[in-house]
Amino acid sequence: MAHIDIQALVRGDIRNVSRAISFVENNRNGKDDLLDNIFPEIGKAYRIGVTGPPGAGKSTLADKLISLMRARANTVGVISIDPTSPFTGGALLGDRIRMNQHSGDPGVYIRSMASRGSMGGLAVSAQEAGDILDAAGMDIVIFETVGVGQVELDVAEAADSTVVVLVPESGDEVQAMKSGLMEIADIFVLNKSDREGSERAFVELRNILDLKNTRNSDWPVEILKTAAVDNEGVHTVYDKIQEHYQFLEDSGGLRKKRQRRYEKRVEGLIRQRLNTMFWNTRRTAKLTDAINRIDTINKSPYSLAQELIRDLAI
Ligand code: GDP
Repeated sequence: MAHIDIQALVRGDIRNVSRAISFVENNRNGKDDLLDNIFPEIGKAYRIGVTGPPGAGKSTLADKLISLMRARANTVGVISIDPTSPFTGGALLGDRIRMNQHSGDPGVYIRSMASRGSMGGLAVSAQEAGDILDAAGMDIVIFETVGVGQVELDVAEAADSTVVVLVPESGDEVQAMKSGLMEIADIFVLNKSDREGSERAFVELRNILDLKNTRNSDWPVEILKTAAVDNEGVHTVYDKIQEHYQFLEDSGGLRKKRQRRYEKRVEGLIRQRLNTMFWNTRRTAKLTDAINRIDTINKSPYSLAQELIRDLAI
């Protein structure tokens, strides 16, 4: 950790911010100390998740939202998360940074991270990267990710407000219902509303949302139409995010979200530590031995697990 200057990081020095993010991304030794040291500096940034299927226009929308945020002198950090290809280990869609218009702006920091499969790896490292940007004084942190499987659920966990971006042509509204996107969205955006069929998709989605909102109307989830590429409707999305922030502040929801995040983080760390402690050489060897004798062994996974756990108590 010697090469990360925490004071410089807290002052917003981008080189140290980048190094720190690589440090947590690669899960390096000393990561916990780093995060522990910056903890007093975090809690000020507002965290926004932007998720949805590939090509829906998330980057385009984020790009325009950033302009609105910058016009209000807010600094913005973006963590752009790619699903990892299981074959190459590299990011599936390449470097998805399409927020080029902000590349020369020192008030905007954009970083790609590749998600590494399941096990909550993404949730943890993206949140930690968010903490680093928060500590570095970013007013707003945006997590941008492709909505595939677990990833968008993780992002919703890391964000204060979650924006789900859909497009008219792909039957996304039905898909959204199935995949749980409905549950995580605070705001729905129907992008590419310049495209044919957008009105039908809009009405369909609104009907679904009306049904849902009658059941749970604390925060009525709305669908907003945009044509991000033409900067249409983006301001409404921005206003709605502000409104949601205000709602969370007033209702105590923001505090609750942060408490829950803290709780889950502690639980996650404990789980990880216990797991590491548990799999010492002896237990690992015992499991390997059982695996190697799978054809002849007369022991179920349940009884082996029971046996391994039992000797923990002694
Ligand atoms: P992402 O994968 O969700 O981040 O999608 P992108 O922001 O990269 O957008 C995918 C493609 O859709 C790009 O070629 C954009 O120019 C285009 N696009 C984005 N928003 C709109 C829109 O509102 N209308 C139309 N017609 N195209 C759009």
